[in-house]
Amino acid sequence: MNAETLMVATVYNPQEIDFERPGKHHYNVAFHLDSSWGYSLVPLTVINGLRKASGTARPPGIAVFGGTHGNEWEGQVAVKRLCLDLDPTELCGQVFLIPQLSESACVANQRLSPLDGVNMNRAFPGDPRGTVSCRIANFVKTNIFPRAGVVLDIHSGGHEAVFPLCTSFHPIPDPSQCAEIAHVATLFDTPFIFIYSNQMASGLLTSEAEADGKITIGGEFGCAEAVNRKGLRHAYEGVKNVLRRYGLLPGDVIKIDPDRQDPPRFMKADNLADYVPCPQNGIWEPALDAGADVGEGDILGWLHDFSDFTSKPREIHAHRSGILAAMHFAAVSKKGVTLYVIAEEVRL
Ligand SMILES: [Zn+2]
Repeated sequence: MNAETLMVATVYNPQEIDFERPGKHHYNVAFHLDSSWGYSLVPLTVINGLRKASGTARPPGIAVFGGTHGNEWEGQVAVKRLCLDLDPTELCGQVFLIPQLSESACVANQRLSPLDGVNMNRAFPGDPRGTVSCRIANFVKTNIFPRAGVVLDIHSGGHEAVFPLCTSFHPIPDPSQCAEIAHVATLFDTPFIFIYSNQMASGLLTSEAEADGKITIGGEFGCAEAVNRKGLRHAYEGVKNVLRRYGLLPGDVIKIDPDRQDPPRFMKADNLADYVPCPQNGIWEPALDAGADVGEGDILGWLHDFSDFTSKPREIHAHRSGILAAMHFAAVSKKGVTLYVIAEEVRL
């Protein structure tokens, strides 16, 4: 056990957290279980920088989340590293780091919490009298969001999908909020920035933060319940670039991927017709990698039926041209799950 581990305070009531206390402080925020005595202990690091700001304006608070889905590890590892690495003497302003938001799901390496079956990324704005995931979401909504001007939620494809490395946000009606979000999304230096439909789901952490007017960035930094080395680097260094952008860390934004000279490509899929469901149960054999440019009619993959091993696989053709923004990950593909998404390249 190291010194950092020893300094974690367990708090049973969010009012016990002194969010203004100078320096770096670690907490386990206890949310009581619904079925027995005990707690989900959600890790939280609060940093109040000790460095004086160069101007008079206080920089916006920055909140960073990993483990909103428990089987997506790049965000958990990146945020855990930041909990240790960020030095309050180098920082000014406030940073809130939550490496395992759906702590019970993270422990179980599952997308959903095993305690209540709730998807944390559908639980917002939460409910103070709801199940444990809803109470954690409510804590974020009422204690973290009001203190943060910038909200970063780091995801990956888990067992669901393969995305090209990307940051993401939804269509934002307010032009100045949209412009700033689009700029901050570039600071992660991912090859793609995905503007995706709000209609696929409700209750997302990022949707809630966007609606609250925050500069909000999501993103997909790997897949397959692993830690993607490149994705981890973009997530970790991207957060530090955001801290530099707003003056919390000194210095200029850095180039994260020295091997790619082009700026990130913006791709947009705000039409549900571009989130194509699997037409039948089958075994999915992809023909292309996520991020590929496709033409209308191109073969994206095949669905195999092993109940007759001599049967021809069903060809899946692109319904339109664009960028292959997401593909089903697992071989076993059920009728109705999203098989692929095609986005259109846009300039902002
Ligand atoms: Zn996720």
